[in-house]
Amino acid sequence: MKKMMIAGNWKMNLLRHQARELTQEIILKIGDVKEGVDVILAPPFTALDIVGGLIAGSRVMLAAQNVFWEDRGAFTGEISPAMLMDAGCKWVIVGHSERRGILGETDSIVRKKINASLDDGLNVIVCVGETLQEREVGKTIKIVQSQVESALVDLELEDLQRLVIAYEPVWAIGTGKNATPQEAEYVHTTIHEITGSIFSQDSERIRIIYGGSVNGDNIEELLHMDNIDGALIGGAGLDADSFVKIVKLAGE
Ligand code: PEP
Repeated sequence: MKKMMIAGNWKMNLLRHQARELTQEIILKIGDVKEGVDVILAPPFTALDIVGGLIAGSRVMLAAQNVFWEDRGAFTGEISPAMLMDAGCKWVIVGHSERRGILGETDSIVRKKINASLDDGLNVIVCVGETLQEREVGKTIKIVQSQVESALVDLELEDLQRLVIAYEPVWAIGTGKNATPQEAEYVHTTIHEITGSIFSQDSERIRIIYGGSVNGDNIEELLHMDNIDGALIGGAGLDADSFVKIVKLAGE
């Protein structure tokens, strides 16, 4: 069995003092969670230093929510993988549907971000998933397949365990309408087959996590599925009790 991963994506929420309070509460409550779960917090850039300082020495890892693909230069407003490493990040989230949908990130941009991040030592969570419209016309697998295949171009075998695929159906994000465990498992199994067809047995090193309105009440059933290796959490990650409950259930 692969090691479970629970990652909290705080999106554009929380001022610095709020990020401090939430992190302190999470660290306090998470205390005795088993080693079998990777726990990740992805605060906004402005709170990376505060959260990074508070989790130092704990088993919680720091992630950024976005990155640029160049190392340095005239790219106003952007942040490079090296800068994120310097700020204490071990992980970065790439290709979130809000970035694809609102900010126009394409598959080729996502791929550049993945490659630059891996090259500079960051681990990557790459998000894929279909919109409601795509789902309704039966295009779920086609969309997810092309996003996954594009993300995996140029990936070296030794980087497989440094890449996590988050299947996040766009219609389930922040809507309270999550995919049923069976719906999610169907897509995860397909992703597993796609990675298997590219990397054979080595693809077992790639974890596939689910995201979309996950909370303390629905996580258990999702995690019972064979091909679901954890979860990317939005809204429920902003509440320490809910987040810690999810982490604890993932550790059982
Ligand atoms: C997300 O934004 O990655 C997410 C899964 O959000 P939520 O849990 O709020 O649906």
